[in-house]
Amino acid sequence: VAPPPVIHYNLNNVTISANPVENKENVLILTPMARFYQGYWDNLLQLTYPHELITLGFILPKNKEGNAATTELQKQIAKTQKSGPEKDRFKSIIILRQDFDPPLPSQDEGERHKMQNQRGRRAAMAKARNSLLFTTLGPSTSWVLWLDADIIETPRTLIQDLARHDKPLTAPNCFQRYYNTDTKKMDERPYDFNNWQDSPTAQEIAAKMGPDDILLEGYADMATYRALMAYMYKEGEDIHQEVPLDGVGGTALLVKADVHRDGAMFPAFSFYHLIETEGFAKMAKRLGWQATGLPNYKVYHYNE
Ligand code: GDP
Ligand code: MN
Repeated sequence: VAPPPVIHYNLNNVTISANPVENKENVLILTPMARFYQGYWDNLLQLTYPHELITLGFILPKNKEGNAATTELQKQIAKTQKSGPEKDRFKSIIILRQDFDPPLPSQDEGERHKMQNQRGRRAAMAKARNSLLFTTLGPSTSWVLWLDADIIETPRTLIQDLARHDKPLTAPNCFQRYYNTDTKKMDERPYDFNNWQDSPTAQEIAAKMGPDDILLEGYADMATYRALMAYMYKEGEDIHQEVPLDGVGGTALLVKADVHRDGAMFPAFSFYHLIETEGFAKMAKRLGWQATGLPNYKVYHYNE
């Protein structure tokens, strides 16, 4: 019997470039998923990046809600990968299920945004993201697109548009559509407040904290005076305008796979008083990789 072949990969031959389609670069789209939204799947299907270069990775909790989401997800996957048009089919799809100890209760938008619930949630989310990342990142992956399961609307050229900036981490601006009762019209508001530029105030608060304490953004009783990308959007201005960021969110975020290969992950603990995606931006920075935000490039979060 012949011994199993040894597979060699030269990581230097895997390009990570501003022209990922021309260079046939593999993209790994990673989504932690507590609930399944049809809008997420429909949006994913309409992305124009060649699907044969895209691998999808999901992680879902092992609770009642996670079971329901997994069933829905698998139904859509079967439709797309088996009976749907060939051009819609993705290269491969990986689904992970994970238990948390103690399990995270299912939380609605208001409940999960309460400050006292954030620390545990963010730590659990960090572990979920790390599990997903470390089990799916392959030797031929060029880019990792973090895309939350409740992102239901993006430009079709999302991947090409973000990659073209050729930055280690690139974050679009995440908004949410809602019905404005004052104007009686559909309107939109900023959603993701984790894309920010640091402030002296936040630094001072952090300096006085205990080693395990974390800073959170978007809470009145912890005013950080950070500059939030959510508020930097200017209508009609260049969608490709760039701003440097010190913290990032995970709703939509394109990362060069080398950033993760260097060891940048999502701390589930206080890392420079930051946690999860914000801690990830800091860890990337300590490894020499600067985050970039696109304030005028919008993607949309589901409205519960
Ligand atoms: P928010 O929008 O920042 O309030 O955060 P979400 O609750 O939307 O969570 C971010 C992402 O993680 C979404 O894609 C969720 O579906 C997913 N998510 C939330 N809770 C869990 C969980 O317990 N396990 C896993 N695997 N994913 C989760
Ligand atoms: Mn969300």
